This record gives sequence, C-alpha cells and structure tokens, in this order.
Amino acid sequence: MSDVRNVIIIGSGPAGYTAALYTARASLKPLVFEGSVTAGGALMNTTDVENFPGFREGIMGPDLMDNMRAQAERFGAELVPDDVVSVDLTEDIKTVTDSAGTVHRAKTVIVTTGSQHRKLGLAHEDELSGRGVSWCATCDGFFFKDQDIAVIGGGDTAMEEATFLSRFAKSVTVVHRRDTLRASKAMQERAFADPKISFVWDSEVTEIRGDNKLAGLTLRDVKTGESSDLPATGLFIAIGHDPRTELFKGQLDLDDEGYLKVASPSTRTNLPGVFAAGDVVDHTYRQAITAAGTGCSAALDAERYLAALA
Ligand code: FAD
Repeated sequence: MSDVRNVIIIGSGPAGYTAALYTARASLKPLVFEGSVTAGGALMNTTDVENFPGFREGIMGPDLMDNMRAQAERFGAELVPDDVVSVDLTEDIKTVTDSAGTVHRAKTVIVTTGSQHRKLGLAHEDELSGRGVSWCATCDGFFFKDQDIAVIGGGDTAMEEATFLSRFAKSVTVVHRRDTLRASKAMQERAFADPKISFVWDSEVTEIRGDNKLAGLTLRDVKTGESSDLPATGLFIAIGHDPRTELFKGQLDLDDEGYLKVASPSTRTNLPGVFAAGDVVDHTYRQAITAAGTGCSAALDAERYLAALA
C-alpha cells in the first residue's frame, strides 16, 4: 500500500492535465492516471485545433496535449500511462486501484475521465476523423465553408449542429433513422425553417466513402431497404455521448444521462474531497478550453479542501 498522496487525478485530457499543472505548482505532487490507450484525451484523435486561445495559427491536437503534459510534468506531476480499474471514494482516505492491482491512497481525487462520443461503427470512420468526419460542429464547422455536409442524428444536438453548420455550409442534410425527430419543438422549428437544411428520413448510413478525405456516404432506407448515395465532404455524427462514469456508479451522484453531478459553480461532488471536471460533468459546452477551465477550478477546490484539513 502506498503513502497517502494529497491528490490523485484520474484522466489526462485538458481537464486532467490542467488540474495536474495547478496542483503540481501548488506543491501537492499529484499522481495522474492518464489511461492506457488514449493518454492525452479526445484531442489526440484530431488534427487542427484553431480555437484554443494562445495559438495564433492553431495547433495540432496531439501537439497541444503533448505541451500540456510536459508543462504539468515540469512542475512535478507524476504521470502514469495506466487505467484506474476501481475506486473507493467514500472514506476520508480514498483508494484508487490500477490495472496491476496496486492500491494508491489520497486525501483528494479529481475525476476527469471525459466522455466518449458514440460512433456509427463503420469502416473508415476513425481514419477519416479530422479529414471530413467530425463529432463537433463548434470545433470543426469553420473548416467546411461552402461545402455539402451531412449531420447524423435526430436529437437536440443534431439540430443544434445542423443549424450552426448552415452558417458556413453550402447545404446541410440531416439523416435520421426514424420519420420524426427527438429534438425539442423549438430546435425542430429552427431547423425546418432553415432553407439550407434538408432531411432524409428513415435512413441510416451504411458506408463512409473516401480515400484520405471524405467523399460521400451510402445510405439505406430502413423501410424499403433501398440504397442511395449522398455526396458530402463533411460528416457530423451527433448520436450522443457516453460519459466515462462506470467506475464511480454507486459512490458519486450521476444525472439521468450518466454525467457526474457537481455543486456548480464549484467542482465538488457529493463526496467530500472528490472533485470532477471536464466533459465527464459537462453536457453543454464540451470544449477543450472549458475542460481546461474546470480542471483549474477542480485543482483550486482540492487545494482549498486540503488547506482546511491541515
Ligand atoms: P478527455 O479529453 O476525453 O480526456 C479524458 C481522459 O481520461 C482520456 O485520456 C481517457 O483515456 C482518460 N480516462 C478515462 N477513464 C480512465 C480511467 N479509468 N483511468 C485512467 N484514465 C482514464 N474541443 C475544442 O475546444 N476544439 C477542438 O477543435 C476540438 N476538436 C475535437 C475533435 C474531436 C475529434 C473530438 C472527439 C473532440 C474535440 N474537441 C475539441 C472537444 C475536446 O476534445 C473535449 O471537450 C476535451 O478533450 C474534453 O477534455 P476532458 O479532459 O474532459 O476529457
């Protein structure tokens, strides 16, 4: 069993690395579990990031995350490319178990495990990510000026993405597998009233085509079984996100959609000494800068909690 740490951070996206930077600079020597597969978080899977302040010409997602990682490490954060497989957060001293079964103990834990966008599960989906395929209109819409874009989904997010994208795009085609939308009435009306947006009902995507760059989609009518082509150079997949909260069920309060609940505007969860930040909490903004911002808040909340213990 290890010594009792001040802070353990679970997750290594912008929220985790920012929390690591702040707690490291406060001499709290944080231990950061980065995850075994996707250390660096969601931005490791993208190309240009043009909306993270401070980079005039933009920066590649993996470069931004390497910089954040190195900056946290420079001040003494201990980074481990491993997964946390179980936690007990209910006592004053929290325990976190890694994949080798080693138990780590800490007075505070900051959860920044992010969320996973749902995928269509089709060939080329991952390889064309950042090359026409996207999950975030706010992030990538600007790259699709005057292009033909498809948006997949029928909920509020899909309608929001479609109406946002219609500002830039030549056309936006919403593809939905049913004949009615799940989105709120107001969102539906906005989308229906937008002359650039059209709908393909009762249809699903069966193929994402393109060699190094998205060229188009093959759709299948779920009622007739007929296939059709949809030429598009942009594809926005808006079929939902799954916050990574499995580990915390039964200990931390979750909302109806499985996101961690915090006492906003703080990052305090329902358990003393446990804080949460980034996309695992946030179903509204989901941006690198907001994740980094709340990661900073979580570090400061943890710092103040520890100061009050002393
Ligand atoms: P994440 O970045 O998701 O990081 C969470 C980390 O926690 C992951 O590394 C994961 O492996 C780790 N983890 C999870 N569970 C465990 C565990 N049990 N043990 C250890 N580690 C664990 N935002 C922008 O602002 N601009 C953009 O241009 C932009 N482009 C994007 C492009 C793509 C393709 C995607 C998917 C997202 C994009 N975003 C963009 C959104 C942005 O990436 C996210 O909002 C941000 O990364 C969220 O940060 P986070 O720290 O909360 O979580």
